[in-house]
Amino acid sequence: MKQISRRELLAYTAVGIAGSIAATSLAGCAGTAKLADTSSDDKPVKTEVPTDGVYVTRALGHESWIYVSTTLRDGAIAACQVVRNSETIGVGNYACARIPAAIVQHQSVNVPNVRGCSISSNAIKAAVTEAIELAGYNIEDFSEEITREKTGDKVEETCDVVVVGGGTAGLIAAARLAEHGAQVTVVEKRDIPGGSMAMTYGGIISAGSRRQNAYDVTGEYSATPTGNLDMKMEALRGELLPGNEDSDLSFCRVMYSEAGPMADWLSDVGVGFRTMGTFEGATSIANGLSFAPGMYMGGVGYTMMFLAERIEKFPNAKILYATTVTELIKDETGEIAGVKATGENGSEYTIRARAVCLTGGGFAKNEEMVEKYYPAHAGQFFNCASASTGEVIQMGLDAGGVLDVFGDGELPAYLSSKGLVELAFAGMTSPGLFVNTHGVDLGSCVSHSNTAEVKLDDANGDRFFLVFDSTAAETTRKNLLLGFDTYNCLFEREEAVHYESVAEAAEKLDLPELQAQIDENNAYALSGEPDRFGRTMRPYIETRDGIWCVEVTPTFYLTTDGLRIDEDCHLLTEGNEIIPHLYAAGDTAGSIEKKDGLKYSYGFDSASTFGYHMAEVIARELSL
Ligand SMILES: Cc1cc2nc3c(=O)[nH]c(=O)nc-3n(C[C@H](O)[C@H](O)[C@H](O)COP(=O)(O)OP(=O)(O)OC[C@H]3O[C@@H](n4cnc5c(N)ncnc54)[C@H](O)[C@@H]3O)c2cc1C
Repeated sequence: MKQISRRELLAYTAVGIAGSIAATSLAGCAGTAKLADTSSDDKPVKTEVPTDGVYVTRALGHESWIYVSTTLRDGAIAACQVVRNSETIGVGNYACARIPAAIVQHQSVNVPNVRGCSISSNAIKAAVTEAIELAGYNIEDFSEEITREKTGDKVEETCDVVVVGGGTAGLIAAARLAEHGAQVTVVEKRDIPGGSMAMTYGGIISAGSRRQNAYDVTGEYSATPTGNLDMKMEALRGELLPGNEDSDLSFCRVMYSEAGPMADWLSDVGVGFRTMGTFEGATSIANGLSFAPGMYMGGVGYTMMFLAERIEKFPNAKILYATTVTELIKDETGEIAGVKATGENGSEYTIRARAVCLTGGGFAKNEEMVEKYYPAHAGQFFNCASASTGEVIQMGLDAGGVLDVFGDGELPAYLSSKGLVELAFAGMTSPGLFVNTHGVDLGSCVSHSNTAEVKLDDANGDRFFLVFDSTAAETTRKNLLLGFDTYNCLFEREEAVHYESVAEAAEKLDLPELQAQIDENNAYALSGEPDRFGRTMRPYIETRDGIWCVEVTPTFYLTTDGLRIDEDCHLLTEGNEIIPHLYAAGDTAGSIEKKDGLKYSYGFDSASTFGYHMAEVIARELSL
């Protein structure tokens, strides 16, 4: 993920300060608070002599502006708080809580970032820096470098199961194993849990779940492939890639069989769900149940935080944060017997366990591995969790495992804005057109699993645009059908740009065909005839209020090659022998669909259901 430097962030910092926020801050510090002068040209004025008060400044975070209130009093940072943010739930909110507290505690803006949310951390520090400077204090007095305390402890412990990586698969497996009574230790290298989980859309297949059965009064839904396991398997059979016709789809069968019980379990322990897309006119991709509250970059984040907290409520389970597993250890017979790990605080852990789960995610952030296994993608940017560095896969290989390399070298791409806001659902939130650099309509751009189908090449140019009208701008800001407001940040980030007319957009963006494409689109919208992509329900693009354009690019976000496992998550050797005590799930084990001879579809579903399944298998094998 692109790191925004402090200098860049400072360039974004406050010009105008929202009146309501300023008033709140003032009220919170009655009598003593002073605000930066926002009169006249709306720009805060730097005071010449230190002036105590409450300063509300802002800096651009991962999603949008983070507003921070900093109280300066008697030469000290008396208080600091994030007063408004739209950061990713389950990622940026950790920085919003922890960084201001650390700044006050240490009286320094130079505190360590929360690992896993550096962009939000840096933004908060930049906003506080600006507040200090506006107040007329010397920033040097608040810049002492604070490093993490080093303890250097040597810790030896024994448990039933050690889980390497607390992301989607790891958290679900650990939460389930804790309930089975296992002594579980999750080792997570970042300061926060979740890996890729909070970044995910998170609709899960729910075939066979009690919730679905309760919903399906007439039995109609259970008679569709989405709601019926056998029909789903039959449908998948039709999607097998050439050369895989004899696949028994055994991995997908596990995924779809465990999805229902997993959905019921999550529901039983308190994860909220919302039912989506089951009414007329709703989008077909959203069939089924979805984590709630919220949707993309919201619902799953809440679920993730809930699971992480739940694990630690069990006396027999814990998560070691900021601790990196460095190697697997073997016993005197040469069998896997645990892990070694190093804490950010210098602690050295030796954790012996009866089972080791490899759930360290994929390797999209490991340039060497990408170059080796996906040469066509060497050097490309992956918009994924920074922790996807592949070392856990390497540990599996060192233990005798083998990588399933699917050999097609192809990776799923989805859409991002120029500023790397994920736009996989823009086709649904923002009725309009995707046009290439010439302004030519590109069709729907995304397939059923939201993978982008646009290639940047000579014909399309090196970027393309999502174009929509003012009504669609409102549904982009807040899409009531999907309960979704994530893309509101496009407007706050000024990545959605308004042009007074199509002609102005065409000229400024060099899209000569734009007007003709909009006219053609509108003709199809009125006639209902299929357009050249076969689409019959086109949105009418009303241009009297001008037009909105967002620059878009296809972006890669994960790797699909992974460690070879059997259907019960045991790690396998080249000769398909089980490596005792060693299990893997999620991106570490690669795409479940590809193992079955299909195209990649649902990383989240495979990581979660196989995490769940792995826990059930281990509980059985360890007689828990
Ligand atoms: C932006 C984005 C959008 C996505 N959207 C979708 C979607 O809409 N639908 C869908 O089905 N899938 C989606 N996916 C894919 C899906 O999120 C992943 O396939 C899935 O979450 C992977 O889960 P995992 O448990 O394998 O890995 P992760 O969730 O990445 O977890 C791995 C964990 O291991 C930790 N770790 C790594 N190495 C070590 C080590 N040495 N020691 C300790 N800990 C370690 C990491 O810090 C991390 O927390 C998306 C992914 C991304 C990045």
